[in-house]
Amino acid sequence: MTAPKPSWARKCGEQKARELGYDSFPIDPFEIARGEGIELSPKKPDQIGVSGGIVFFGDDVGIFYSTDIKSLGFQRFTVAHELGHYFLKGHPEAILKIGAAHVSRAGFTEGGQAIEIEADHFASGLLLPTTLVRRHLADEPIGLEGIEALADVSHCSLTASAIRTAECSPYPVAIVVSRGDEVRYAFMSDGFKQLGALTYLRKGDALPDTLTRRFNASATNVASGMRACEETNLNCWFNGDRRIALDEQVVGLGSYGFTLTVLSSDNLPDDPDEVEDEEAQLIESYTPKFARGR
Ligand SMILES: [Zn+2]
Repeated sequence: MTAPKPSWARKCGEQKARELGYDSFPIDPFEIARGEGIELSPKKPDQIGVSGGIVFFGDDVGIFYSTDIKSLGFQRFTVAHELGHYFLKGHPEAILKIGAAHVSRAGFTEGGQAIEIEADHFASGLLLPTTLVRRHLADEPIGLEGIEALADVSHCSLTASAIRTAECSPYPVAIVVSRGDEVRYAFMSDGFKQLGALTYLRKGDALPDTLTRRFNASATNVASGMRACEETNLNCWFNGDRRIALDEQVVGLGSYGFTLTVLSSDNLPDDPDEVEDEEAQLIESYTPKFARGR
């Protein structure tokens, strides 16, 4: 199997949004599909875990998306993912090789097929292009409020918006998604990585003794979307060599049992203007399933 090319796929998504004239949020994957003459059908899937799929039949193309999860952000991300299979070079051929239809499973990409990983990155580039994300974040408060405003304006999930914020934010920020006392995945912006010699958090790492860990000890906090904020420091989270004060903002993501933590500060300098999203690091434990949910 060929290795996935996530940054290539994300760039293709961004380029497609630009090409179609989207210069502001929200970017509508349903409209893009209709513009391509693709038939869209909402569908209750026969199998559990199926988020959507694409069917190539001669010149006709159809996309279906699961309505099991009511969230509009989830459905939009699913349609954008299927558009990735339609637009990305080599994807239709790869799908036709194994049959005319392809079914996508939310969360299936964890250590999964290259085309699934690429389609997810195409979707995040299409719906949340770097230029628009940076422009939006520059006008919003630093941290969770700005990410929530981005999710609102882009009609994307809070986690998808948080991941893209960490990938291309104009200010230093890290985001951590956790469950119980474990890290699920974490991203740092380029500016954040430059704050010191940091230890990267990986899937399965124990959460440090922080507000997030205490917050997660109560299932109700997480399930009912409670929020909390406290001052923390870089050293405590990432073993940095400097004690830089950070705001730790925490919000419960609901019934899946996940928590989003945003680490940032009003007192840190902005990143240089240069966008170096090429270097944005894809943490191996990235689980798009949760990016699609809330
Ligand atoms: Zn797929």
